[in-house]
Amino acid sequence: MKENKIEYIDFERALAAAISGEPLSVAWLVPLLDAAGQNETLLILSADKVRASTMGDSVHLRGLIEFSNYCRKNCHYCGLRKDNKKVGRYRLSKEEILECALKAEKLGYKTIVLQSGEDLHFSTEIMSGIIKELKEKTKLAVTLSLGERDEETYVAWRQAGADRYLLRIETTDPAIFKKIHPDSDLEYRKNCLYTLKKLGYQLGSGVMVGLPGQDALSLAKDIIWLKELGVEMIGIGPFLPHKETPLKNEKGGTLKQALRLIAVLRLVFPYAHMPATTAMGTLDPLGREQALEAGANVMMPNITPTAVRPLYEIYPNKICLDENADKCFGCVTARIIALGRTVGADYGHVIRKKL
Ligand code: SAH
Ligand code: SF4
Repeated sequence: MKENKIEYIDFERALAAAISGEPLSVAWLVPLLDAAGQNETLLILSADKVRASTMGDSVHLRGLIEFSNYCRKNCHYCGLRKDNKKVGRYRLSKEEILECALKAEKLGYKTIVLQSGEDLHFSTEIMSGIIKELKEKTKLAVTLSLGERDEETYVAWRQAGADRYLLRIETTDPAIFKKIHPDSDLEYRKNCLYTLKKLGYQLGSGVMVGLPGQDALSLAKDIIWLKELGVEMIGIGPFLPHKETPLKNEKGGTLKQALRLIAVLRLVFPYAHMPATTAMGTLDPLGREQALEAGANVMMPNITPTAVRPLYEIYPNKICLDENADKCFGCVTARIIALGRTVGADYGHVIRKKL
C-alpha cells in the first residue's frame, strides 16, 4: 500500500538526477525506466554519451564456452532445467575446453567465459584443474558462470586463478524470485554474490527483463540492490519464454525494455562493463548494435563447438548456432567497426578505483 504513495518526478528532472549522480531513488529511476517516445530517445542518447566518456569506444569481446548443459535446478524460465527431458545433454571434456580456449586466444580474445548449468560433475577439484591449466597454457582472463556453489568452492576456483564471476540475481523481488525458482533461495543467491565479492572476483550480476509480475518499480529496486552490492559487470537481457518450461505461455520481455534498462544502468554505473547480450540479438537482428548504442560496451560471442551449441538452449531461437569461432569473430568485429567503434585491445578488466 505504501508504494502507491511514491511520488515520481518528471522525466527531465529524473534524467538530471541520474546524470548528476544523485543518490538512487525509485522516484527518479521509475520515470526513466518507463520513458517513451522522445524521452526514451533522449535517455538512450544520454547513456551512449556517458559510455563514450567513461568507457571509450572500444568494445571488449568475451568468448563464451558453454561447456555443460546438465543442470540440477528447475528454474521455471530456463530450457536447461532438470525436468526438461527433451534436451540432449552434453559435457565438454577438459581437453575440448582447452582446445576452444587456445583457439580463442589465437583469434585475439583476451577473455573466455566458462558457463554451464549447475552441473556437479564439474566438482570443485575438476574445475580447479581446468582453471589452473587454462591459466598455465594461456594468458586469457577467465570468467566463470556456473551458478550457486559454496564458499569453499568459490575460494578454490579463485585460488586456481579465476578472475571474474557472473551470477545474475535475476530479480530481487522476493515474490517473483520465489515463483520462478522452485529450488533456489533469494537470500542464498545474494549471499553467493557477497561471498564472490569478498573473495576478490571481478563481480558480474544482472537481471532478466519482462519476467511475469515484474514492473518498472521492481526493476528500480533491482538497480538499487545492484548498486549496494557494488557490481562491476552487469548482464541484462529480455526473458524469452521457452516452450519446454512452465513459463511457456508468458509474454516475455521486449528489446525496448531491455534497452531502456541498459541505458538507465549506464547512467547509474558509469564504469561498469555491460554486454550487448545475445538474447537481444535474438529479438532483433540489430538488437546487439542497439544495445551498444544504449550504453553497452561488451559482446560475448559464442565459441562453443558448433556440434553441441544448439543443445545449450536456455531460451529459444538463439542466434549464431552454426558459425564457427573464426567466422563469429569476423562477424562481430565487422559489426563493431560498422558502428564506428573499435575492438578492445586490452583485457577489459573492471575499473575499480573510479567506482
Ligand atoms: N546456471 C547458471 C548459468 C547459466 S544460465 C546460472 O543460472 O547462473 C545463464 C543465464 O541465462 C541466467 O542467469 C538467466 O538470466 C539466463 N536465462 C535463462 N533462461 C532464460 C530465458 N528463458 N530467457 C532469457 N534468459 C534466460
Ligand atoms: Fe540451471 Fe541456470 Fe537454467 Fe537455472 S538458469 S535451470 S540454474 S542453467
